Amino acid sequence: MKENNLLIPGPAPVPDAVARAMSSEMFNHRGPRFKKIIEESTAALKEVFQTRGRLYILTSSGTGAMEAAIVNFLSPGERVLSLVNGSFGDRFATIAGVYGAAVERLETPWGQPLDYEALETKLREDVEHTLRAITVVHNESSTGMLNDLERISRVCGDHPALLIVDTVSSMGAVDLPVDRWGIDVCVTGSQKALLLPPGLSFIGVSEKAWLAAAEAKMPRYYFDLRKAQEYLEKGQTPFTPALSLCVALREGLQLYFAEGRQNCYARHRRMAAAVRAAAGALGLEPLVKDLQQASPTVTALRAPASIKVDQLREEMRRRFGVEIAGGQGELEGQIFRFGHLGAVTESALLAGIEALELSLQTLGYPVERGRAVAAGKEAIRTGLRPAAGGRK
Ligand code: PLP
Repeated sequence: MKENNLLIPGPAPVPDAVARAMSSEMFNHRGPRFKKIIEESTAALKEVFQTRGRLYILTSSGTGAMEAAIVNFLSPGERVLSLVNGSFGDRFATIAGVYGAAVERLETPWGQPLDYEALETKLREDVEHTLRAITVVHNESSTGMLNDLERISRVCGDHPALLIVDTVSSMGAVDLPVDRWGIDVCVTGSQKALLLPPGLSFIGVSEKAWLAAAEAKMPRYYFDLRKAQEYLEKGQTPFTPALSLCVALREGLQLYFAEGRQNCYARHRRMAAAVRAAAGALGLEPLVKDLQQASPTVTALRAPASIKVDQLREEMRRRFGVEIAGGQGELEGQIFRFGHLGAVTESALLAGIEALELSLQTLGYPVERGRAVAAGKEAIRTGLRPAAGGRK
């Protein structure tokens, strides 16, 4: 078994070729080599995002792009409706509030679906169109809930509010047609499904949002996308980019498209199915019960009453080199989470499931040895469907 079998919801493991690319020598970030990298990578990322809109590569973690998604498009005092059913939904609302937006939260308990009907009512009641933006997290990594973005996009219809979406733990792993779903601002990070270490974030911007940016009055400097646009026209970024990561990005995107988008989506679905099947065999309950709403990249399981999450994680780490995550915020101590995204392989995941089984047994939880791994393997086997690679 690997010594560091990283099964957390990001950072995800990176392919060897990406790690090697990271050791590139330094070069001029205002020269032709970087120009080629940024132009090619921006174009390839637009394919991942399924957008013809604007796209910027930022040197920051995902939260930086979330901040950029707020400060570039809004003014203090403007009404923002934040859909919250987990810690990252809460973070989006908090950022908007910090910059002076009048934030209303549409909250449902963590791990429960969003209140789509209440959203519809809010939008219908907003006859004067004072609501300027809706923030939502597509894949709530804190709970393993894949929010129904297509439905949200339908509910928003032709209301003029900007649809601002965090796709940090879904972009690349889940079909997410940014333009077709009318997403105005879409942010993601490098360290999840896009096969890179942490440190870059990406933000897609629709023309409607770009027009709003010209009017927006929130303070911004590092994340000012008008500057990003001005420099992109020269094949540059306004400030020194994380050059090593930018070199690795091109490598990662090549690997991503060599696997093919549809294959990548299917692989993530299979891995989620394997964890759920294993959980079923162990008598563990997923936090998100409805399979339709379960994330393909992160699965949260409720800890049995007799098991302390910290002890379980420690046992898995110490004996098997397997890293899983605990719960965040109000779910701390109640759940543990498997991340199965990016370069996590099915065999690494099965090793993680075996480690879970053995660790639970050591901690006194009754386990029928081998059943969870067998169930996981079967879910992978039945989910296997060969498809052609490529950019479809
Ligand atoms: N949004 C989601 C859904 C995430 O999973 C994360 C990170 O785990 C973030 C935002 C924040 O990203 P970062 O930690 O890169 O700032």
